[in-house]
Amino acid sequence: MIAPSLLGLDRSELARICGELGEPPYRAGQLAAWLYRRGARDVAGMTDLPAAFRERLAAAWQVGRSRVAADQRAADGTRKLLLELADRARVETVLLPYDERVSLCISSQTGCAVGCTFCATGSLGAGRNLSAGELTDQLLTAPEVAGERVSNVVFMGMGEPLLNLEAVIAAIRLWRDEVAFSPRHVTISTVGIPARIGELAAAELPVTLAVSLHAGDDELRASLVPTTRWSVAQVVAAARGYQQRTGRRVTYEVVLLRGVNDEPSHAFALAHRLKRGEHVNLIPYNPVPRAPYERPEPARVAAFRRVLEARGLTVTQRQTRGDDIAGACGQLRAGLAEAASRPAPSPAGREPG
Ligand code: SAH
Ligand code: SF4
Repeated sequence: MIAPSLLGLDRSELARICGELGEPPYRAGQLAAWLYRRGARDVAGMTDLPAAFRERLAAAWQVGRSRVAADQRAADGTRKLLLELADRARVETVLLPYDERVSLCISSQTGCAVGCTFCATGSLGAGRNLSAGELTDQLLTAPEVAGERVSNVVFMGMGEPLLNLEAVIAAIRLWRDEVAFSPRHVTISTVGIPARIGELAAAELPVTLAVSLHAGDDELRASLVPTTRWSVAQVVAAARGYQQRTGRRVTYEVVLLRGVNDEPSHAFALAHRLKRGEHVNLIPYNPVPRAPYERPEPARVAAFRRVLEARGLTVTQRQTRGDDIAGACGQLRAGLAEAASRPAPSPAGREPG
């Protein structure tokens, strides 16, 4: 059996454990410092705690840090880490350096049940939820490995964060309270689950919401996000509710697929759903093995953008990053899934056919 992890517990939970082990409450502060600020990887290394306490603690608990199973760097500075968790599940975390800041793209699940047709994580199928500790581990591990301070976190890695909302909210509170990482620097990207968007708003964390819309037309959207149960109008209404309640601007994301949703008529349909001043982020498709899509030509993206701008929408375009290591959105774990599905070599050591 794997011992439960200390990482992910807040001050009151740590105090309860200290109490149960006969230690004074201030030990919780020392523990939190080791876990969240001093990068402890095991209990034995928490040298200012009494040896007997460390022994009792280590008998029942582990720290809960991941192991870096792979570390790839792209020519543009993007760095992709493959992290192995306690149960050997693997997730990816991607560091994206921009001019003066470093964004960290983290995973919320080990796969994704939503199954968007253009997404590598979707092709893995449902995985499990990551715990608040496993989410926090990503925020701690990336700067340790890269030696760079993380300025923003985006939940745009593997998984659908609103299907793991409890742990996501717990982690963001923990980062605020123990890591001094402000929720204002956190963006949650979601496929758009109206009730969960409401729950996120109720958590009263000033995080930015990004909603993956992809199309203004219900039928087209349902062909790309096959498991969705909501209409575009319902998703947009939930997003606007979030904006009203939190005062934070929502971004609508559109992955542009050549010949599928990138024509001017698609841009008109989308513009028709949104209001002047609302913000759209265009993401040219990043190729994924075996997906039947292609990235649109830049002129097509520019034309799409002009239609939206002419309707008074604010449009930004995602830079393509980490191309040479499949480190961009939607490509995570693609290489691994590919390797796993390849036929095993024949006994003679040659691949059949
Ligand atoms: N599940 C959430 C967050 C993870 S996906 C969501 O869907 O929003 C993060 C972003 O990457 C989403 O906007 C998603 O549409 C986009 N994405 C997925 N696959 C992609 C691909 N192959 N190319 C470009 N963007 C992709
Ligand atoms: Fe899941 Fe987001 Fe990928 Fe869709 S795009 S399958 S919701 S991770």
